[in-house]
This record gives sequence, C-alpha cells and structure tokens, in this order.
Amino acid sequence: MDKKILYDALTDMEKTLSETLRNVSEIKATTQEVIERNNTLEMENTRLRDRIAQLSKNEKKTKVKNRAQIAMEKLYNDGFHICNLSYGQRRENDEECMLCLDMLDTLD
Ligand SMILES: [Zn+2]
Repeated sequence: MDKKILYDALTDMEKTLSETLRNVSEIKATTQEVIERNNTLEMENTRLRDRIAQLSKNEKKTKVKNRAQIAMEKLYNDGFHICNLSYGQRRENDEECMLCLDMLDTLD
C-alpha cells in the first residue's frame, strides 16, 4: 500500500467517524428530550390519577351523605326524633325539635 492510498483511506475513515459521532450526538440529544418528556408526562399522569382518586372519593362521600340525609329527613318527617337526646322517640304532637332541625342542617 503506498503512502497516498493509506492517507486517503485514513481521511475517509476520519470522515465516516466524524459523521458517526455527529449521529450519536443527535441520537443522544433526542433520547435526552424523550426521557425529559417522559418524566414530565409521568408526573402529570400521577397528578391526574391522584386528582381522579380524590374526586371519586368526594363523590362517594357526597352520595353516602345524601342517602343518610334522606333517611334522617324521612324519619323526622314521619314524626320521630333524630337528635342525640331523643333519637328514635316519637315527637309529641309532631312538635318541632330544635336539636333535630340542627341535625338536619349539619347534614346539608
Ligand atoms: Zn329531637
């Protein structure tokens, strides 16, 4: 192999390696972007899942509260006490009981 051919071969190899290095740098930069984007999406996903869990928990609580309220209102309207003092006892002549009414207010 004469010196000229050897030199040209090395020049070609240098060009190829430079190009490969540039490609590797580009791929590395793209990978970095993808990783960062993925992290952001994962955090956002976690936040949204937490929010959904919180919302459905609140919804369940509201439903239970409403059912309890309806039951209490029905009991009171049927003429019974729902207050702690006289719970379940008949209200004399359907007289209003302030404690029962307070109970109904707090259930709202
Ligand atoms: Zn009462």
